[in-house]
Amino acid sequence: MKEDWNKQRNGIIGLGENSFKKSYYPDLQSKIVELEEANTNLQTIFNSTNDGILIHDERGNILSLNNQSKKIFNLKEEDKEKYTIFDLSSKQMSTDDLTKIWQEVLDGKPKVIEWIIQQAETEVEICLQVSINKAFWYGKQVLVAVVRDFTERVKYEQELFQAKIKAEESDRLKTVFLHNLSHEIRTPMNGIIGFSDMLTLPDITPDKLNYYTKIIKNSSLQLLRIIDDILEISTLETKQVKANIEEVCLNDLLVSLFAIFNLKTKEGNISLSLKKQFCDEESFILTDKIKLHKILSNIIENALKYTSEGYVEISYSIEKDDLVFCVKDSGIGIASDNLEKIFNRFSQDETNKNTKVGGLGLGLSIAKENANLLGGKIHVVSEKGKGSAFYVTIPYKPINANLH
Ligand code: ADP
Repeated sequence: MKEDWNKQRNGIIGLGENSFKKSYYPDLQSKIVELEEANTNLQTIFNSTNDGILIHDERGNILSLNNQSKKIFNLKEEDKEKYTIFDLSSKQMSTDDLTKIWQEVLDGKPKVIEWIIQQAETEVEICLQVSINKAFWYGKQVLVAVVRDFTERVKYEQELFQAKIKAEESDRLKTVFLHNLSHEIRTPMNGIIGFSDMLTLPDITPDKLNYYTKIIKNSSLQLLRIIDDILEISTLETKQVKANIEEVCLNDLLVSLFAIFNLKTKEGNISLSLKKQFCDEESFILTDKIKLHKILSNIIENALKYTSEGYVEISYSIEKDDLVFCVKDSGIGIASDNLEKIFNRFSQDETNKNTKVGGLGLGLSIAKENANLLGGKIHVVSEKGKGSAFYVTIPYKPINANLH
């Protein structure tokens, strides 16, 4: 009888809170405690996951979100009503796409997508991986999104992608380099072999002998230059090279460079000029003479190589604490896309392929590394077809400071 009575009481629904407290219905009460405990456990799990969990409807209204979601979206519990998923999506994402995805999920196709959100208030953009599924929530169909911060992963993927592009480019450049190298070696080699044979001709005149010998010598120097460049770039690569700072007379250095290159321009249509800003006594500075000579001779040689007529002008000036050398020419110029690339190893302005002047694409990368060793830098201002101006900037360290 007593048992029946208890059963009846447990069947009663809609009792007031006080009724439970009075422990009139012990089975019902223990069930409630059990359910409360189960709910607390579920909440603990819900809030202790490393992934964010967000429950929302098909209009983007947020119904519930766990602690990790609050962190990711920078939301407080009460912000649920203030923001929809659309408000929290980055401006670069299409809300139409999102609505379509949700519809597909509601039609029974769970989805995993990458989505960029915009945090509440801070507006910081975060890339998320979102796994979306549907569920029943208080009797209606909702969407459950499990979100994971993917920003680091995306950054890593982008870096990897950039590294892949760089590796492919470097592989391509090395192939071009080997092709150019074989051409650059064969040309002087053929000169040496061909003209050496001519030297043995029985009726050779002294003039011809002189001419052939000159060609052989020039071709040998060309080969030496290639070997020097390759050796220099590999030494620079080991980072073992140090600047050897000494007293240098700038004017002497420039005059000797000018004399060497002026000889080469004599037969052509190019006028080479040198503008000195200091008198000789003022032009003593501290730097690495060999490296500075190498840098300037490289860019002057290029200026002459890539200019068929007009001028090449060498000058220097003081800008704040720096000494700036400028080699300006009226040559073929450089395509704007390649202005930075040409300082990379083996890189050439490929828009100038028709200009058959040869070269390995090493000179400027050597010049750049050497300029860095002197504590300076090198850059170019150029327009295709309108000439170029190469600037070498190094720290200005005058010896006779009181003269300036
Ligand atoms: P190389 O001249 O042996 O090809 P560099 O490293 O010296 O190699 O130069 C790289 C590229 O930069 C050249 O191939 C050329 O396309 C471009 N360049 C350098 N100097 C000039 C210049 N004064 N005018 C036009 N293009 C230039």
